[in-house]
Amino acid sequence: MTKLKSNKSTGSNRPGPTPPRIVLSGRNAKGALRIGVIGCAGRMGQMLIRAAAANERCLVVGGVERAGASTIGRDVGALAGIEPLGVPVSEDASDLFEAADAVLEFTSPTATLHHAELAAKRRKVHVIGTTGLEQAQLTMLQRHARQTTIVLAPNMSLGVNLLLRLVTQVARSLDHDWDIEIVEMHHRAKVDAPSGTALALGKAAAEGRGVSLDRVAARGRDGMTGARRRGDIGFAVLRGGDVVGEHTVVFAADGERVEITHKATSREIFARGAIRAALWAQDKPPGFYSMADVLGLSE
Ligand code: NAD
Repeated sequence: MTKLKSNKSTGSNRPGPTPPRIVLSGRNAKGALRIGVIGCAGRMGQMLIRAAAANERCLVVGGVERAGASTIGRDVGALAGIEPLGVPVSEDASDLFEAADAVLEFTSPTATLHHAELAAKRRKVHVIGTTGLEQAQLTMLQRHARQTTIVLAPNMSLGVNLLLRLVTQVARSLDHDWDIEIVEMHHRAKVDAPSGTALALGKAAAEGRGVSLDRVAARGRDGMTGARRRGDIGFAVLRGGDVVGEHTVVFAADGERVEITHKATSREIFARGAIRAALWAQDKPPGFYSMADVLGLSE
């Protein structure tokens, strides 16, 4: 068990009751991978707690939330709608990286960058599902991955990772007479657009064509845009309701069209993927890995 330090995650030094410490759950932990979840009260965070608690090869040892969040001190299991796990939500990420073998994180880009630094210092596995990371932030993550094992995937589902491979193959087979457009839809609370998965699909298509996505991406058309540029890869974004995530890659030519679609109907698929990634990563050398590596889909 580790001693509680001031909250380095946010710099908070609030007075008031002592925040809860990261404690090991009372369950028999022999041989299990000790899992910590950052953003444990979020939509994905709760799902991750449920998935880790249900997996006999894992032990939930901690959950962290933003400093001052109303969920601090609540039991992570009860918060996730399962039996109490004897692990209170904490605001101390340093403590979590001390207690856990692998930390799962689906939060925001800024928070993720900060926590990747802690993971590198402690040499703990960091499984990152956060989307919306800018190139400079990805470069920082790659730097941290020299010291520890990072698995980063904008989409942790098996289906989408198969789709990524398929899209590269189809794009490689078809010439520039085939226009490529990517359509995605997500729930109304999603804050980044296009989705990380849509961008990954765009990158997969660009790779198949042997071009850089940055040079051909058409993101957000509005007004008098002029005719479609040959070779562009277009993105269209829909937001609404509680849609977990839907992606279609359209290959459109004169007289025919090929569409490949993936629909996620439960966040469980992402949480199961993250747990699989953590279990896979535990004996891997430091490096920057993708879900394709985890699933054995890398070339
Ligand atoms: P959410 O808003 O429901 O949850 C995010 C949680 O992170 C919140 O509880 C928030 O309080 C917490 N948080 C934010 N900053 C923090 C900090 N500094 N320290 C600790 N906790 C902090 O969002 P969500 O729907 O769960 O999605 C989270 C992220 O995961 C988004 O980027 C989303 O696009 C991504 N996502 C990825 C996948 C995937 O397979 N890779 C799947 C679904 C969602």
